[in-house]
Amino acid sequence: MGTEGKASRPPVRMCVRCQVTTATPVVVSVVHQNSGPGFVVYACRACAVHFPPQPDVLAALRQSGRAEVEQ
Ligand SMILES: [Zn+2]
Repeated sequence: MGTEGKASRPPVRMCVRCQVTTATPVVVSVVHQNSGPGFVVYACRACAVHFPPQPDVLAALRQSGRAEVEQ
């Protein structure tokens, strides 16, 4: 007792989709907040495939610009 918190624990995270803790978390989203640090959303490997890949900022800007031209 008392030393449990210092024991090396595996990086277990809870899946945002199935709410199950996983030892192999995959980052599916990073939420940026105006005030304070943002937080990272994790999913298990099985659920990660259901999330779109992390969008590239430059690619997103290019796509939005192209959409405006088409209209
Ligand atoms: Zn999951």
